[in-house]
Parts: sequence; C-alpha cells; structure tokens
Amino acid sequence: MLLTTITRTAGSRQASHEILRTIPLYVARSRGVATSSGPYDTVVIGGGPGGYVAAIKSAQLGLKTACIENRGSLGGTCLNVGCIPSKAMLNNSHLYHQAQHDFKRRGIEVDGVKLNLDTMLDAKNTSVVGLTSGIEYLFKKNKVDYIKGTGSFVTNNKLHVSLLDGGETEIETKNTIIATGSEVTPFPGLEIDEKQIVSSTGALDLQQVPKKMVVIGGGIIGLEMGSVWSRLGAEVTVVEYLGAIGGAGMDEEVAKTFQRTLSKQGLKFKLNTKVLSGEKVDGQVQIKVEAAKGGKEETLDADVVLVAIGRRPYTKGLNLDKVGVEMDKRGRVIIDDQYHTSTPGILAIGDVTFGPMLAHKAEEEGIAAAEILKKGHGHVNYEAIPSVVYTHPEVAWVGKSEQELKAAGVQYNVGKFPFSANSRAKTNLDMEGFVKFLSEKETDKVLGVHIIGPNAGEMIASGVLAVEYGASSEDIARTSHAHPTLSEAFKEAAMATYDQAIHV
Ligand SMILES: Cc1cc2nc3c(=O)[nH]c(=O)nc-3n(C[C@H](O)[C@H](O)[C@H](O)COP(=O)(O)OP(=O)(O)OC[C@H]3O[C@@H](n4cnc5c(N)ncnc54)[C@H](O)[C@@H]3O)c2cc1C
Repeated sequence: MLLTTITRTAGSRQASHEILRTIPLYVARSRGVATSSGPYDTVVIGGGPGGYVAAIKSAQLGLKTACIENRGSLGGTCLNVGCIPSKAMLNNSHLYHQAQHDFKRRGIEVDGVKLNLDTMLDAKNTSVVGLTSGIEYLFKKNKVDYIKGTGSFVTNNKLHVSLLDGGETEIETKNTIIATGSEVTPFPGLEIDEKQIVSSTGALDLQQVPKKMVVIGGGIIGLEMGSVWSRLGAEVTVVEYLGAIGGAGMDEEVAKTFQRTLSKQGLKFKLNTKVLSGEKVDGQVQIKVEAAKGGKEETLDADVVLVAIGRRPYTKGLNLDKVGVEMDKRGRVIIDDQYHTSTPGILAIGDVTFGPMLAHKAEEEGIAAAEILKKGHGHVNYEAIPSVVYTHPEVAWVGKSEQELKAAGVQYNVGKFPFSANSRAKTNLDMEGFVKFLSEKETDKVLGVHIIGPNAGEMIASGVLAVEYGASSEDIARTSHAHPTLSEAFKEAAMATYDQAIHV
C-alpha cells in the first residue's frame, strides 16, 4: 500500500507547466528524492539541538520518525551559526591574545605572533562541518528519516514539504514537534547587511578585523563576539540600555566583576545608554546614542556594528494559523507543561517556545517531548538549567541570583571563595573571579551557584547537580574535591556558605 505520496513541481528535472503528479515512493527514491515512507509516529520540523535530539530520542523509543530541516545541514542555529562557531572563535582568539600578551610572563618567548584570520575562520568552519555531518550520521544510525526541505502544516496530521532539491512532498504523521528555533531580533532602522551592520551570523565571519566595532546589546552574544574581535585587535564599544551587562539571570555582583574584567581587557562600555539611530556615512556606520533617561546625543563611529539585542521565535511559513496553533504576543508558541500546543498532535520545544534560548534547554525538551509521545510522561527541571558566557574568564550560573532571592523575600546564606586563594588558579597564573553559593537560610539547600573564573562553564555542572538533587551547601563542602584543582574553590565556597572556608 502506498502510504506516502510525493508530488514533484517545477524544478531542475521537470518543466514548470507540468501538472503536479503523484509518484510512488519507490520511484521517488530511485530519483534521489530525500524522503521516506509514512505515516510517521513523529515528525520534527527543525533540525537544531531541540529538533534533532527529539528526533533521535523518538526513534530510539521505537517511534517511526522523520526530521524536516531546510538549512541544508543539521544542528540548527547552534551548530551552524551559534554555539559552535562562536566557541571556535572564542577559543582561538583567546590563544592568539595569550600568545601576544601572556606567554612572555610564563617563560614562552615567541617572535612575530601574527593573525591569519582566513585560517582562523577555516578552523571554525571545519568544526562546524565535522559536527553537523556527525548529526547526519546519528540520524542514519538511529533510523531517523532526514527530509531536506521546508515543512508547513496542511492539517494537524499532514505536512507539506518544499524540498531543497526543488520538489514537493506531503507526509502523514500522528504527531509533529515544532522545533523551528529563533532568528535575530532586528533593530528598527538598522538594516542588517551581514558585512557592516551584522547580526551574530555576520560577526562570526568578518573577513577582516574592524578597527572600530560597536556592539548594540551587552548580553551573552554581544559580549562573546565583542571579546573575540577585541582580542583580534578591534576597538570595541558595547552599548547597553540597562545598567548592567550580562542580561537577565546574571548575579549583579558577578556582573560588576565581569564588566571590570572585560574593561581591563580593553572593551569599552556605555551602560544606561539608548541607541537612537544609525546610518552609513563614507564607508563607516554612525550610531547615535543618548542616555537611557534622555540627554545629550552622542555619535559613535564604527567600521562594523553588531546588532545583538536578542532573538525572537521563528515560525514563518509553518501555517500555524491554519491548524489553530496559538502564539503569545511575543510570537512564542503557547504550550502546556507537556509541550502540547493548542492543537492536538502538535507539540513545540526549544527557542520557538517559552524559556531561556539555550541549546541544552532545547535538547532537554527534545528528550522530554519524545518521551511524552511514547510513554505519556517526560520532565525538564527548569530550575536547574545552567547559563554560561564563554569569555575569559568564563561566567556561569545556575538557580537564583542574589537579587532574585531578595526580590522574592527569601532568607539566604552567601558563601564566596576567590580564585586568588585557589592553588591551581595561582599555579596557572589565572586567578580572576570567585565562586559564590546561595543557600536557603533555614535548610541550607543550594538555591543558586554563580561562578566567574577560569573553566566556570565546566565547573557549573557540579552546581547543576547540587540544584537538581536538592543538595545542601554542607553536602558539597563535605565532598572530597581533587587537589590541586579549580574545583576546590567550588568546595570552599560551599564551606563558606554553611561554615567557614579554610584557605582564605
Ligand atoms: C551566536 C550565538 C551563540 C550561541 N551560543 C550558545 C551557547 O554557547 N550555548 C547555548 O546553549 N546556546 C547558545 N546559543 C543559542 C542556541 O543556538 C539556541 O538556543 C539553540 O540553537 C535553539 O535550538 P532549537 O532547536 O530550538 O532551534 P534552532 O537551533 O534555531 O534550529 C531550528 C532549525 O529549524 C529550521 N527551520 C525553521 N523553520 C523550518 C521549517 N519550516 N522547515 C524546516 N526547517 C525549519 C532552521 O533552519 C533551524 O536550522 C547561541 C546562539 C547564537 C546566535
């Protein structure tokens, strides 16, 4: 029985006037059409960290699964133009900066350190290609059908796909998971050309180091990309509307230390400052700013302007209104606590719906949504989702910040330990920052962990476990941590929370 029908339209292989026709699947396969038979138990639209993980888990649970992705490679924003390329640039620009400014005091003398930006960009691209093709391998291994094209709803059980190779197909499915992610929020009046006025995507691929760069937005992406280009030689000014950098969730004490550290590295900050407009003049971009509360206008000149004011859910072309999937005012797909949208058989996960726009949050939701479809239950603990800024030093946190606890009227204990008192950090000549624990006064339960320091992004995993398992700071303080490691600072901060640290 033919379960799936494939229709081919005008494309390289057929004349545009030819009537759409239905061809049997096996014929389609022999012509190299990227599709598979249905009906599916699960179809995921979007092959980012939310979507590809949902698809793999769904297939692992024995559900017949396909994933539709229109980018031409899997991994979504994260692997193609987000987490991975930005971390490649952060890592390699840090090494370059160290070679220039830090090696000498370590007894390493290198003459003529030079930047080869082309090679650095190539190295970034190599990481991206390796990882995205790795997901294709995982799809094959787990028997997920990878459909290359753009998906949209015909009904809640039928999807239309415009295939990347020019054809079209319709597939039937019991359930669909929307995992179409997010896109850059534009700044009104500043048209992104990805050369001079860039989003993070353009900022990951600048072909030369700008002399002057203005970053609009002092959130994680702005700070990471600002750091990269500053280390490579650009004069970077970050303009932020709020009075602190780091965005929501970052502990205020950490944010202050972070700003001081980045300033020492050469980044300039204009906080409480509003961008009014921007225009291209004589090969430069002139950005007009004024104090957020109003005041005298100032013009900032830049060779490149990075617009990093946030991201918004992406649902274009899905036909959500046709199938009755509701969205809120911010364009987020509305879901219940089991990821079901307002339409039966349609779920949503990742950046396209509520919660922090983070790859690991999307992945957790992908697993939970697949488990819900198969077993009727699945769970994500949103209290235990870490955030990391991959600058140097790194900043990482999980749970509540001090300002959040104050606002909620929660009584708490604070314990801190500086890396300047940690033997490994001292040995490594990398001592900036501290670990800070917040625990509930009455029970000592860990409510938040905030780290600014070397390898904070790795160390926060212990904080996540503490929050997930409801540990007390004493539980952690009484757990042996290897010596000499940076993680001893973590233990000592926990000691300082319920009692006293030893080494400070
Ligand atoms: C510069 C940058 C750095 C980042 N760094 C980090 C980091 O270090 N750590 C972290 O956790 N997060 C980071 N993020 C955020 C992270 O990339 C996102 O949170 C994550 O990718 C969201 O995953 P997702 O699966 O929801 O969506 P996405 O990754 O956006 O994937 C959605 C996919 O769906 C496809 N699609 C959309 N519509 C359709 C359709 N109709 N049919 C078929 N396909 C469709 C899109 O092409 C896309 O590939 C970063 C983001 C950026 C921009």
